[in-house]
Amino acid sequence: LVEAGWKWDKAVCRFCGTGCGLMVATRNDKIVAVKGDPLAPVNRGLNCIKGYFNAKIMYGEDRLKTPLLRVDENGNFSKTGKFKPVSWKRAFDEMEMQIRKTLKELGPTGLGVFGSGQYTIMEGYAMVKLMKAGFRSNNLDPNARHCMASAVAGFMQTFGIDEPSGNYDDIEITDTIVCWGANMAEMHPILWSRATDNRISNPDRVKVVNLSTYRNRTSDLADIEIIFKPNTDLAIWNYLAHEIVYNHPEAIDQDFVNKYTRFATGFVDIGYGLRGNANHKNYTEKEKEITGVEVSKKLSKAEGESLAYLGYKEGDTLEMKHTAAAGAHWGISFAEFKKALKPYTLDFVAEVSKGDESEPLEAYKAKLKQLADLYIEKQRTLVSFWTMGMNQHTRGTWVNEQAYMVHFLLGKQAKPGNGAFSLTGQPSACGTAREVGTFAHRLPADMVVNNPAHRKRSEEIWKLPDGTLNPKVGSHVMQIHRDIEDGKIKFVWINVNNPYQNTANANHWLRAARELDNFIVCSEGYPGISAKVSDLILPSAMIFEKWGAYGNAERRTQHWKQQVTPVGDAMPDIWQYVELAKRFKLRDVWGAQEIPGLEGGLPDVLPEISKLGYNPNSTLYDVLFASDYAKSFEWPAEVGKDTLNTEAEGDKRNVLGADGEAWKGYGFFIQKYLWEEYRLFGLGHGHDLAEFEAYHKARGLRWPVVDGKETLWRFNSKYDVYAQKENTGDFAFYGNKGSAIGSGTLTGPNDSMEKTDMDNRAKIFFRPYMDPPEMPDKEYPLWLCTGRVLEHWHSGTMTMRVPELYRAVPEALCYMHPEDATKFGMTQGELIWVESRRGKVKAHIETRGRNRVPQGLIYVPWFDEKVFINKLCLDATCPISKQTDFKKCAVKIYKT
Ligand code: SF4
Repeated sequence: LVEAGWKWDKAVCRFCGTGCGLMVATRNDKIVAVKGDPLAPVNRGLNCIKGYFNAKIMYGEDRLKTPLLRVDENGNFSKTGKFKPVSWKRAFDEMEMQIRKTLKELGPTGLGVFGSGQYTIMEGYAMVKLMKAGFRSNNLDPNARHCMASAVAGFMQTFGIDEPSGNYDDIEITDTIVCWGANMAEMHPILWSRATDNRISNPDRVKVVNLSTYRNRTSDLADIEIIFKPNTDLAIWNYLAHEIVYNHPEAIDQDFVNKYTRFATGFVDIGYGLRGNANHKNYTEKEKEITGVEVSKKLSKAEGESLAYLGYKEGDTLEMKHTAAAGAHWGISFAEFKKALKPYTLDFVAEVSKGDESEPLEAYKAKLKQLADLYIEKQRTLVSFWTMGMNQHTRGTWVNEQAYMVHFLLGKQAKPGNGAFSLTGQPSACGTAREVGTFAHRLPADMVVNNPAHRKRSEEIWKLPDGTLNPKVGSHVMQIHRDIEDGKIKFVWINVNNPYQNTANANHWLRAARELDNFIVCSEGYPGISAKVSDLILPSAMIFEKWGAYGNAERRTQHWKQQVTPVGDAMPDIWQYVELAKRFKLRDVWGAQEIPGLEGGLPDVLPEISKLGYNPNSTLYDVLFASDYAKSFEWPAEVGKDTLNTEAEGDKRNVLGADGEAWKGYGFFIQKYLWEEYRLFGLGHGHDLAEFEAYHKARGLRWPVVDGKETLWRFNSKYDVYAQKENTGDFAFYGNKGSAIGSGTLTGPNDSMEKTDMDNRAKIFFRPYMDPPEMPDKEYPLWLCTGRVLEHWHSGTMTMRVPELYRAVPEALCYMHPEDATKFGMTQGELIWVESRRGKVKAHIETRGRNRVPQGLIYVPWFDEKVFINKLCLDATCPISKQTDFKKCAVKIYKT
């Protein structure tokens, strides 16, 4: 009886990268219930506590329901004005005016978009088209830059193609689960329930190891727990390789290594991009002058030993000969690889990495040795999982590569139950940020903007004149913030993201947003920090108020249908992008354009457009969203080809209701068209996706989907048709084809190996340990580590509005070792100051509970805008991936 009038449909969880399937019930155009989808292979009917509240996030009291613009007393836009409700038309008028002003002053690169790993696939794809093809600016970068950019760089350098070879089935098949900086129990709870099931069902066979800088809920299931010092995971990977190469050469899978891999190394030290502390007034000063943090310094003892392979020793200063373009690397022989690993003995690595002062050194060494034994045991299958611990790292790309290095040596990759497996944080970090290519350097299907062939292919699919796309890599997330601060970007659009809460060294960027001459638009569901910092807020439809698709960490793509009408005047983000595209004519943006740093700028492509059936007065909408290809799809008769809303008044005539009229309307048209066009990029290129309708029948499909069949283990000829086609035997790492090792960037002092044909081979890298750019010292004696909690999603804008989740964890606590609290004269529960060189916040001390940190380290989650911990974090990025290191900086604490 309770369910009378309910209509159930399948959907996808809006939160983490696990990608759980849901069933959602609608009644009277409202979501009334959510439960785990029993048919969903990922979660089999189970959800975690966040998953069960997917509906409640949509109905918070302060949900944004109308556009809001900062205006003065006369109703004109004013940077210092107060937010007042405006119509959609007025909102788009102001956006159009501000974009025109910026284009006139700065050209296309004056525009920037903070994108998202929470974009639906079609949203991300539409924004890539609008920014990169329409406005010819590559300044579009997602918050996924903070999440898995290091994983991407690691994949691309190692495999030449992005995303994991394995899938979640590995969790149940494997004998060993090793978590490296991945608190799966809280961050991927449903995957952890599968891991727990395997461990408990097979107590004699299955082992679990947790490597972390603090004790957490994942430790509760672990057979071995290793607490290491922040940043030293890379040294531990090298210890494992040392143990294999020097002490257990019989463990090396000679056949696998000889047939399918090549050895390589490289070194890059081009700085971390720090912008300094929060107190300086001059926005253009350089990092070293203002941070007090040494970027290039004399090598420490550990670094001296680690860099012995390049001829360095402790106390030396890095020489410029070893600095090179990000990602540069060169081929080496196995003998050179072995020599480079020589310093990473058990004694050396234990000394460098032991993270808990109270643990005896010998006991710690014994655990490292046990870990090595598990990896080395020939018959034992083993999966290494990681997330932010290894990705948010100033050597994030390297440490990702080291994981593959160990698995390749042992031949434990791309096989059922075996593999190094990078998990993602966000629901579509894979499906959208990576596969669609919403990064500043990327195009769909692993293509990049600075490759002429890739631009050409994209221009062909998008039916654009040659030369439309901008070949210059745009600004990544941190660089967009710096460009805003430097006045190089003056129009910013925030999509499905909260960049002013989620970026390290936040005071800097908040000040740049509010005090400088710029215009910031934020499309949002709730008034989070980024909305409050903005000049115009656009109310966005949330998860079940729009059509969508996400791609999870096992390459599974899942679609859902719109279930209910958006609240108030809220509209889907795609509708917002399409409406804006109607405001700009080709002649506004496709003439010759000057681009800083691009000789000759962008060509005038207007003379070419008539051949494509357009004229200079055609709009970006005509070309990007209503082309002949778009019109080639059959439209529901009642919608009609020209009834897309042209008045920009938030008209919802064609937006689906909950009355069973699925598959009709505006939502259907744009989703279907964008999907079918997008999938043209991947077909035949190892990224094959199925047709739109297939996903509305299936519970997701793992790509490449060839002849209707998904791929379980990539690169393995038994499972992957692309590997079979290469005819190289059991494996083919087909992402690396036709290029010499180093991909044309053969630089460095140790270029002793001939350029090698890399066809179908993966790279085994040696990467040295390096200290992080900021470490505790006398003035700031503690490490600060940040992260998430199970109950809240990211910056808390949604989950903090769900009463049950709010009550469960109402504030971010400062987890501290009880002896540290005593040492600093503090007590459990006390409100204290936590301060770094960049800012300070107040937080309550927690010496008990879920996170038990070692002495010398505190842990503060970042979901709580009242405890704005990202003000303190260091804006240092991996020089290759440009991913920020939120996991370590130096702080002090004192009484309030
Ligand atoms: Fe599954 Fe993640 Fe959603 Fe929890 S938050 S239900 S683990 S997708």
